[in-house]
Amino acid sequence: MTISWAGISDELRREVGESNHKSWIEPLECLAIEEGVARFRAPSRFVGDWVKRNYHDQILTLIRNSGNHVTRLDFVVSAAPVSGGTLATRPKSDSPRGPAAGDDVLQGTVLDPKLSFDNFVVGKPNELAHAAARRVAEAGPVTFNPLFLYGGVGLGKTHLMQAIAWELTEKRPDLQVLYLSAEKFMYRFVQALRDREIMDFKNIFRSVDVLMVDDVQFIAGKESTQEEFFHTFNALVDQNKQIVISADRAPGEIKDLEARISSRMQCGLVVDLHPTNYELRLGILQRKAAHFAQSYGSVTIGDGIFEFLAHRISNNVRVLEGALQRLFAFSSLIGQEITMDMVQDCLSDILRSSERRVTVEEIQRKVADHFNIRLSDMLGPKRTRTIARPRQIAMYLSKEMTSRSLPEIGRRFGGRDHTTILHGVRKVEEIRAVDSQLNEDLELLRRLLEN
Ligand code: ADP
Ligand code: MG
Repeated sequence: MTISWAGISDELRREVGESNHKSWIEPLECLAIEEGVARFRAPSRFVGDWVKRNYHDQILTLIRNSGNHVTRLDFVVSAAPVSGGTLATRPKSDSPRGPAAGDDVLQGTVLDPKLSFDNFVVGKPNELAHAAARRVAEAGPVTFNPLFLYGGVGLGKTHLMQAIAWELTEKRPDLQVLYLSAEKFMYRFVQALRDREIMDFKNIFRSVDVLMVDDVQFIAGKESTQEEFFHTFNALVDQNKQIVISADRAPGEIKDLEARISSRMQCGLVVDLHPTNYELRLGILQRKAAHFAQSYGSVTIGDGIFEFLAHRISNNVRVLEGALQRLFAFSSLIGQEITMDMVQDCLSDILRSSERRVTVEEIQRKVADHFNIRLSDMLGPKRTRTIARPRQIAMYLSKEMTSRSLPEIGRRFGGRDHTTILHGVRKVEEIRAVDSQLNEDLELLRRLLEN
């Protein structure tokens, strides 16, 4: 029995929309309908799985309506060639995010067009990482290998890496650039082992010119993946190929990462993305607002709104961005300007969850700044009063302002015993009772930290 897949496909276009159709339906080839099963060829397992999960019933219904007896759909994956071409694939221009942006299609990872250098706001906390990324994107002689970027969640690691990939694919189309997450690296490795394609795997990874592996902490503790990663890494470094790595912490601090890997990582340039500061957040909000205005139309934003958001949402740029997007969506929906009331209404969940959550490290930094001593002295063994007193104050504030236990605080103060922390806390309580200057200092520090 035959069906007109073209006709059904057209029908689906109307149902799922142009860009979904382009990403998911168009790549399918209808092979046959036999014994109640409609068989399709999908270009990758990923596409097949996606279609099965999201469009199975819709497709089935349409085929049935066209007079065919089918009970299920089946997808076979054609072996797509994996070598050749730029591995970091650009999404097609008419489906801006491509098949599942940020996810892997057989060839490589689809880059998100938003994550370019143009869209990256530079400020003090990220200027070094940005400069290093720019340097790598010039594709000049390799000066540091690898470039190791680290920092907390949502501070722009993936953004910078993809920006490098964009820039390189644009300026040096002759280079093979491969960007992927460490998780994907492992997934491909395991898949290659299972399918006995390990030689292909090795060939692909060793023939790229630039390898970028995001969130490398993921492979910590995964022995054979680490092993393979180590060999890939060495092979590329030996050929003088550029490697860029990101992680959520410094190489030496990743638990269960083999020492030989972490020491190789430190051979290049290790730069961290610091937590954002107020100015950077304000800059990012302004830039994103201009960007959102393109999709939501222009929206009036009340005075002080950006300042308020930059002030209150300090944890993570992704959250900041999400908050602004929500305000734009809401405001354009009801056709009103963004007011402080709207912010409180719309963002109550975000504002609640980002309420002052001070870390011991922040306290130490602020206190050290305030008393003009070095952070290393605060954590170190010196016992002179000019150092010991601020240290005790930091201990006291850590006890008061965080939910850390005394032993946990002790660990963060250069591995001190919990009794030392308790002593520090008591000391400050004692002095407070008689020293108004100390009280003022404490109040000031507390205010600074709460903001
Ligand atoms: P990470 O990989 O470090 O967790 P991402 O790179 O995914 O963080 O960034 C999270 C979000 O914040 C992304 O949407 C990214 O575009 C945005 N972002 C982070 N830093 C900046 C920046 N300096 N300028 C513009 N956008 C940023
Ligand atoms: Mg990331």
